[in-house]
Amino acid sequence: MCNSKFGSIPNKLSIKQHLELALVGFTFIRYMKPEGYSSAVPVYLVRCSQHGRYLEKPSGYTGYFVCTSCLEETQILRSRKNVMPHLS
Ligand SMILES: [Zn+2]
Repeated sequence: MCNSKFGSIPNKLSIKQHLELALVGFTFIRYMKPEGYSSAVPVYLVRCSQHGRYLEKPSGYTGYFVCTSCLEETQILRSRKNVMPHLS
């Protein structure tokens, strides 16, 4: 859970990072070039209320973060209940 293509979550966070994580829900960690990427990407530590902390890069044009575990659970729920997706 702690390791991903973006590496492992740092043990020590600065006060600023702790605050951002608590207030905004994500904080910048570092730039890195994951395998399969042509250039370096900004990596953020993101807080999910369901699954805890994970490392992710901003997605899409608006730079939002998607928790992969939440996404998978949503897809599983939809397929189980055969519910029409409600995408905002
Ligand atoms: Zn989640």
